[in-house]
Amino acid sequence: MSRIKVKLLLVLCAAFLSLGSYTYGAVKINVVTTTTDLADLAKAVGGDRVKVVSLSKGNQDPHFVDPKPSMVMKLKKADLLVKVGMDLDMWADGLIAAARNSKIIYAAKGYVDTSVGIERLEVPKEKIDAGMGHLHIHGNPHYQTDPAAAGPMTKNILDGLCRISPKDGEYFKHNRQEYLTRLDEKMDTWTAKMAKFKGANIVTYHNSWPYFARRFGLNVVEHIEPKPGIPPSPAHLAKLIKVMKEKKVKVILVEPYFPLKACRMVAKKTGAKVLIFPPSVGGIKEIKTYLELFDYNINQLVEALSE
Ligand SMILES: [Zn+2]
Repeated sequence: MSRIKVKLLLVLCAAFLSLGSYTYGAVKINVVTTTTDLADLAKAVGGDRVKVVSLSKGNQDPHFVDPKPSMVMKLKKADLLVKVGMDLDMWADGLIAAARNSKIIYAAKGYVDTSVGIERLEVPKEKIDAGMGHLHIHGNPHYQTDPAAAGPMTKNILDGLCRISPKDGEYFKHNRQEYLTRLDEKMDTWTAKMAKFKGANIVTYHNSWPYFARRFGLNVVEHIEPKPGIPPSPAHLAKLIKVMKEKKVKVILVEPYFPLKACRMVAKKTGAKVLIFPPSVGGIKEIKTYLELFDYNINQLVEALSE
């Protein structure tokens, strides 16, 4: 090859690369999610056409996340915002207002609430307000603890991505379908592993697991917290110990961010085992994806219930 041809080739390569990186940078949709589970699902649907960041970490209580200026900066740049809804991530509302990004405000094209289409559990019949210390005033917002919730959650994300970039619609649909196929296979494995524990009585720290319990046939008999967000009193714990002995409860599930003192005391008096049960991706650092989250939790639950 002549020197001129080589030079020309190099120039063309450089032009192609710069064009490539420009196009690549330009087409990425900036997705901001409130939680790490939603970030993982948004990556699954969006593939290489999205850049995803989560505002909270998986080891934080999703009800209470401290707002930071860096979160507002992320929201300013967002094309798509993905929320849990049902007031779980209410802390994000002030940040969204502060970001003044018209693309992601309520009802804008770039606003996604993944609770749309979820069959809500524990919707209060009478009016409850947050002043009573009750955190679940629109029903139980921890629906993502049922892996099947990934169906409606990814559908909401898909619809949002299609609104932002209709030309990529087929690609997003294909990604979602592939993800749901993998989820179905996993679901068969989890269901088989849990089958012999149908009807097992469990206790949880916070009322985060009714969707998980319904999916795998567990029976949540009580909580360490007397009401969501209310710390336990000695009287409540005494009653709890009595109930746990009667119902032969073998495990207490507690998220990594709750205090362990009351759990350990109750465990000691009842012979139950305390399981650190992360509710989200990154709840412990080994859990990098939504599917790994259920692998981890189901494995430790099966082990504890088998003892
Ligand atoms: Zn809650």
